[in-house]
Amino acid sequence: MPEKLTLLALFAHPDDEAFGTGGTLSKYAAEGVDVHLVIATRGEAGALANPSINLTQPIGVVREQELRRACACYGIKHLHLLGYIDGQTTIAPQAEAVYKVVQILREVKPQVMISFGPDGGYGHYDHLAVHRWATAAFQLAADADRWPEAGLPHQVAKFYHRAMPHEQLEHMQKIAGRTYVLMNGVPFPFMGQPLERITTVINVRDYVESKLKGIRCHATQIDAASPYLQETFDLEAFPWFWQETFILAHAADSLARIDPARQKEADLFAGLR
Ligand SMILES: [Zn+2]
Repeated sequence: MPEKLTLLALFAHPDDEAFGTGGTLSKYAAEGVDVHLVIATRGEAGALANPSINLTQPIGVVREQELRRACACYGIKHLHLLGYIDGQTTIAPQAEAVYKVVQILREVKPQVMISFGPDGGYGHYDHLAVHRWATAAFQLAADADRWPEAGLPHQVAKFYHRAMPHEQLEHMQKIAGRTYVLMNGVPFPFMGQPLERITTVINVRDYVESKLKGIRCHATQIDAASPYLQETFDLEAFPWFWQETFILAHAADSLARIDPARQKEADLFAGLR
């Protein structure tokens, strides 16, 4: 058993961590796991979703502050900003970005990492770029011949993709009447996964307060009518809010394979402690 458990999550924008992993990050931080959050951009391209907010600083500055406050809500002590420009990650120097992630992985040495899957949630270009960086860095961090000056090689034992089951989207359709994200007025649908492909369901019911607080920190990104901003939030009406779902995409050879159709994991560190 490793002496210290470390979890690293890598996403593109401030708020990407909130809805699908805010509970998981809070839960592991509360359990004493060293939790690191890596965010590629400051969200400079984000539109103001709540017009009642009077922005007195550039939105990237405000979103970084929102992200730092959200980290405090989740109990995350380590935030790493890669410093790329929102909306421009696909034209950022890819080798440099992967190098930065490798450097962090070798320094932090997480057993478990989380990022976007190949669907990027809803296909956002920045999410797809970050998925590719995470995938390359997961492999290269363990390669002793690659970038020896970036630190000693480190093998992440488990790499998870954040994934939404179709059932969650059906529920979203029923409750919100839509399952897409508007980007410049164009609807981009969330991409669901068959429930049989989901390997891991983390029950974060005991951490919904931290998750909600974290979400609310991203005030510039949330429509005033959103259920997350209402004073009362009915947990029973949102079962997917407290069940966060992942696909174990890559695992070290020493770990037992799981058959998601039969038995789902309830712990990202299953097999590691
Ligand atoms: Zn995003």
